[in-house]
Parts: sequence; C-alpha cells; structure tokens
Amino acid sequence: MRPIKAGISLGAMAHNLRVARAHANGARVFAVVKANAYGHGLSRARRAFAAADGFAVLTLEEAANLRLMGVEQPIMLLEGLFGADEIATCAELDLWPVLHQPAQLGWLERAPPARPLHVFLKFDSGMHRLGLPLADHAALVARVRNMPGVAGITLMTHFAQADEAAGVDWQLRPFLEGVKTHALPWSAANSAALLRFPHACGAWVRPGLMLYGASPFADASASEFDLKPAMSLESEIIGVQSLRAGEGVGYGQMFRAERAMRVGVVACGYADGYPRHAPTGTPVAVAGRPTRTLGRVSMDMLCVDLEGLPDAGMGSPVELWGAQVPVDAVATAAETVSYELLCALAPRVPVEEVA
Ligand SMILES: *Cc1c(COP(=O)(O)O)cnc(C)c1O
Repeated sequence: MRPIKAGISLGAMAHNLRVARAHANGARVFAVVKANAYGHGLSRARRAFAAADGFAVLTLEEAANLRLMGVEQPIMLLEGLFGADEIATCAELDLWPVLHQPAQLGWLERAPPARPLHVFLKFDSGMHRLGLPLADHAALVARVRNMPGVAGITLMTHFAQADEAAGVDWQLRPFLEGVKTHALPWSAANSAALLRFPHACGAWVRPGLMLYGASPFADASASEFDLKPAMSLESEIIGVQSLRAGEGVGYGQMFRAERAMRVGVVACGYADGYPRHAPTGTPVAVAGRPTRTLGRVSMDMLCVDLEGLPDAGMGSPVELWGAQVPVDAVATAAETVSYELLCALAPRVPVEEVA
C-alpha cells in the first residue's frame, strides 16, 4: 500500500475549541466547519466540537448533513440563502441564515416561512465583500424586524485585517456605533479577532482555522496560543538517490547538488494536496529529524535532503506537516496560508483518526 496518510486528532480539535472558549470573553462559540471542516471531515468535526454552542457552514447540504448526524445546536449559513427555493429547507431544519444582500431580504418578504427564522443581518464595515451598507442600518433593521418570516436578529460583520497590524477597530468602531442603537446581539470575530481582540467578541464568535490548530497570524505561531495541530500529513521514503556534485533533482532540475549527497524520494505530491509551489528548503521531518525539500514537487512525489541523516533511508517515516513541522511553516515557504493547505488535503489520502 502507498504509505501516505493523514492523521486527524479529535482530541486536539476538542482542545482547540476550549482555547477558543477561553478567549471568547463570554461569547457563545460557533465552530466554523465549512469546506469539509477545513479538510478534517464534517463528521469528525461534529464529534470533536460536540461542546460548541453552534456550527457555521456555507451550504444547505452541509447543514442538512449536520442535522442528519444529530446536531441540535444552532447552525448558521455563512452566506445565507443562494435562492428563494432554499427558504423551506432552512425553516424545516431550523437553520440561521445570513442576510447580506437586498435580494435575500426580498425572498424572505415574498415567501415567509411558516416557522420564522433567526437571521444574521450582515453589514459591510469596510471589507467590501459581503454585507449591506452600514449607512442604511436603521432602515434595514426596521425592515427586517417587521418581516413575519423573521423570529430574531443578530447583527454581523466581518473583519478584513484582524490578522494584521491594522487590526479590527477601524471596522468595529463604526459597526458598533451603528448597531448599538438597536439593542441586538452581534457577531464579528473570526479566529484572529478572537485571539487578539476580546472587545470584538460580542454575543457570538466564529472561529475556524484556530480550531484545527493553525495560526491565523504571520507573526505568531499556533503553539504561542496553546493550539494543537489537528492534522498531520505523513508518508515514507520510497526511493533513495546518491547525487554527485553538479547533478540535479526532478522536473526542471530546480535543485543541483553542490557536492555528493543523498536524496530521499517521498510518496507525497501535489495530487495529495502538498503545495506544488513549495520551493527547495521547505521544512519537512524525516525519521523525526528536521530537514528540507529539494527541487520541484511532482504529482505523486517530492524529494528531501538526507544529508546529516545517515540512518534515514528506504521506509523512513516522513512528516510533511503536523506536530514537528507546523502546517503554517510549510504554507509560509510555499507563499500561501495554512487554510489553503488544510482544505486541499486530497480525497485519495487515507485518513486515520488518532487520539
Ligand atoms: C470562514 C469564516 C470565518 C472563520 O474564519 P477563520 O479565519 O477560519 O477563523 C468566520 N466568519 C465568516 C463569515 C467566515 O466566512
């Protein structure tokens, strides 16, 4: 059997949820489980986050699956309804949709569900992606309050720079200025805001990435917040090459040996979800020791430096990311973010649940 596998720790996920709660300043916690729980599996997330106050997903299908699995907590739909045809299911399953576009308000007004919905009324406070104009908050809140299809309202916004020096206050201040007049609960914080800005927590927080043990910040590691990596990507060395000085490795011969050296070939490539743009020097661990990748990542394989690892060879275990090699370090080397690597874990990689 091809030796690659992903290990997913439900214990780490449950631990990270407790870390989120400790930072949440009393807010209730939606575990964000979109994108197959950031690659960790919706059903595993349901079990690991059983203590969450709610779940947040993108699609009606994900929400329906959670209900089938027995989830009784509130489930929010982060982008709300994609069409008027979703209202009935939304009401049947007691889902809490976001309203971020006038069209969605119109659908609910024209076809109010028999069982009114709790909704998140989302305002744009500067990100300029989804959200209704903050300047219109008074009229919009009044309009939604009057809808027979609406049972309750939580006000919502989303931060563009919670992970950066610019922070959240440039958005939070105008948002709160507008919403405080309505005496309604509010929700704004993602992982980065939750970890650094307790005053941005409101009634409900929406952590995603941190629950999986990765850091939303470029300047702080997950371990600094006591977060534990939930996913490891592991494989083995399936070939060893001895290079002479001047010889190259892999497609494009992107790495050339300066002197004689041993190279390990690992059964993991971009078709497994490892980033093709990870350059020579990306951190990796072989037989428990830190080393680096060499040359270009191919579809099913990548190469690693075995210099200084005389005991490593055929069959040696390799950790692509996990407890020894933070997924954030691999993401940084590949000029992306850990979100992308976790979500991209390929379906062909067998998953093993670990403690
Ligand atoms: C994905 C998402 C989150 C979670 O963000 P993280 O950075 O993963 O914590 C929160 N809120 C909304 C609206 C989202 O779409």
